[in-house]
Amino acid sequence: MGAHATQARFRMSAILLDVDDTLVDTKAAFRHAIVATASEYLPASTDMEEATTAWRRDRGGYYRAYTRGEMDHFTQRKLRVHDLHAQFGGPTLTDAEYVEWEKIFEAAFQEGWEAHPDAEPFLDALDARGIAYGALSNAQASYQEHKLAAVGLGRVPMLVGVDTFGVGKPDPRVFLEACRRLGSEPAQTYYVGDEFDIDARAAVEAGLRGVWCERAGTWASRDPAEVQRAGVVHVATLSELLPLLPG
Ligand SMILES: [Mg+2]
Repeated sequence: MGAHATQARFRMSAILLDVDDTLVDTKAAFRHAIVATASEYLPASTDMEEATTAWRRDRGGYYRAYTRGEMDHFTQRKLRVHDLHAQFGGPTLTDAEYVEWEKIFEAAFQEGWEAHPDAEPFLDALDARGIAYGALSNAQASYQEHKLAAVGLGRVPMLVGVDTFGVGKPDPRVFLEACRRLGSEPAQTYYVGDEFDIDARAAVEAGLRGVWCERAGTWASRDPAEVQRAGVVHVATLSELLPLLPG
């Protein structure tokens, strides 16, 4: 894993960034939130790593359905809780009970928000080189603005969220709209995200350059041949991108 020493420097006019698990350590915040809800709703023997992984993997694909505009946020969240409890022995919640669950989850989730330590130095490097940047995320834009500000990354403008068009990545429209708002040509714009399919590969398919920042232990690994075929740059951290920046 990691950038190849022979990787050419980027020819770029701008860079677009994913938020969750790219700039912000969302995985750790989810763990914090799952632990908080588990103390009320799941058996004491629950393995918190397994429960966090199950939450993030979202085997029912409910969050993806939300980002395709097929389901509202409340419904997808409630179905994820239902599935989590089905897997780990928690109760089936009524809508009113789910609202209580959500309060505990959201408070702990926000308490757990922290930037990845390499995010700020990366932004400093972009600022020093005069490279324009902004964020494109599959969550609501105002929520992500709040999150970025809370972790000290408020200088990153939120360009496009799932609410901009009612759909998110991998739909090419969100990538192209983010470029338009940034005033950059897609072919000279790099998109950096932690999810191989909806971030890096989708960016390439939309006509941008795709960078897969595979944060260690964040997602299941991918077949290297598949990664190569996708034509994406593959790194493990934002720091690995610093030698590839122009100038
Ligand atoms: Mg992400």
